[in-house]
Amino acid sequence: MSFDVQKIREDFPILKRKVNGHPLVYLDNAATSQKPQAVIDCMVDYYSNYNANIHRWVHTLSQEATDAYEVARKKIQNHFGIIHPEEVIFTSGTTHAINLVANGFSSILKKGDEVLVSAMEHHSNIVPWQMLCERTDATLKVIPMNETGELVMEDFEKLLSENTKLVFLNHVSNALGTINPIEEIINKAHKVGAAVLIDGAQSCAHIKPNLKALDVDFYVTSAHKMCGPTGVGILYGKKEWLEKLPPYQGGGEMIKEVTFEKTTYAGLPHKFEAGTPNIAGGIAFGVAIDYLNEIGFQEIATYEDGLLSYATSELLKIEGLKIYGTSKNKTSVISFNLDGIHPYDVGTIVDKLGIAVRTGHHCAQPIMDYYKIPGTVRASFSFYNTKEEVDKLVEAVKRAKMMLS
Ligand SMILES: *Cc1c(COP(=O)(O)O)cnc(C)c1O
Repeated sequence: MSFDVQKIREDFPILKRKVNGHPLVYLDNAATSQKPQAVIDCMVDYYSNYNANIHRWVHTLSQEATDAYEVARKKIQNHFGIIHPEEVIFTSGTTHAINLVANGFSSILKKGDEVLVSAMEHHSNIVPWQMLCERTDATLKVIPMNETGELVMEDFEKLLSENTKLVFLNHVSNALGTINPIEEIINKAHKVGAAVLIDGAQSCAHIKPNLKALDVDFYVTSAHKMCGPTGVGILYGKKEWLEKLPPYQGGGEMIKEVTFEKTTYAGLPHKFEAGTPNIAGGIAFGVAIDYLNEIGFQEIATYEDGLLSYATSELLKIEGLKIYGTSKNKTSVISFNLDGIHPYDVGTIVDKLGIAVRTGHHCAQPIMDYYKIPGTVRASFSFYNTKEEVDKLVEAVKRAKMMLS
């Protein structure tokens, strides 16, 4: 199937709307992606036709909802190259999944143990580990990055020791777009016996990982970054790890037997799925995965790489524009500033022209501190964006520069 961006755009109803009198140019895909009609229809269909609570079996609707939810789990399992379906834990998203693991390690780590995080993490991948280290007296250490926005691998190797118990990093930085060498990091961490958690929230829309081949211990992501709904995501964990970790939340669904003296927990995945989950969201996550695979991840990557290199070279023609994150290995995220102009002011002006970009620290303040800047303007592209939209962005940034300098 050839890649036809105009045809693909037809699948996204929101792309037809106007913002401030201009056709919407949505370049905030790193924050959340837009949703194709198939995903929206799936949610309407669930609530219109078979809304019921799951895993309670007795009546027909409950059976249908349970089946659809478990089909979605299976789709997720297949997509990410996961061996057992019970290794897929539904969560409310990446943040929830990370907190679940961090909480679990509270009972495993002790004083003297070390946790490594990368210098380019999202706050949701820093704060839970800080909290974990406070609870356990373990030490948090940071893998530094360099000017191009890449991790310094020699320093990573120096930080590794038999005290390293956990390594946490994102596959792709949401603020810079850098694709981190996770394969190498997983292999090296395993050599000293450390477990690795990969935050796939930013990579999942661009790269289809094979978690079995990667041999990663944990992987987390959010559906809403890959054309699915908000409020649902997954934790993948190797079975032996998930069996070792204690439950995170107590409640219905996660128990086998409850008396006031003692409760025994359900097996995987239910042990970690307390309460009524986001049923419609989970089912629609499966539909989003089908949608992306129908287009094809290779096709998506090739098209987005084209947009990235075009946008990079066009933006760099603007004098005084600096791009942060210049790794050769990156996804379609461009973080930039205009010399002497606050990113917020640029964002405000381009919004008046219907263009949605993100401004600020992108939940990654340590990166901004590294570059000694308050924040950046971030344009992040998806497979439904076009070259014409890149041109509109470039024109709008030029206009902002003229008005603000
Ligand atoms: C978006 C994002 C998160 C947070 O995801 P939530 O859906 O808000 O939990 C974490 N890490 C990275 C790299 C992200 O891009």
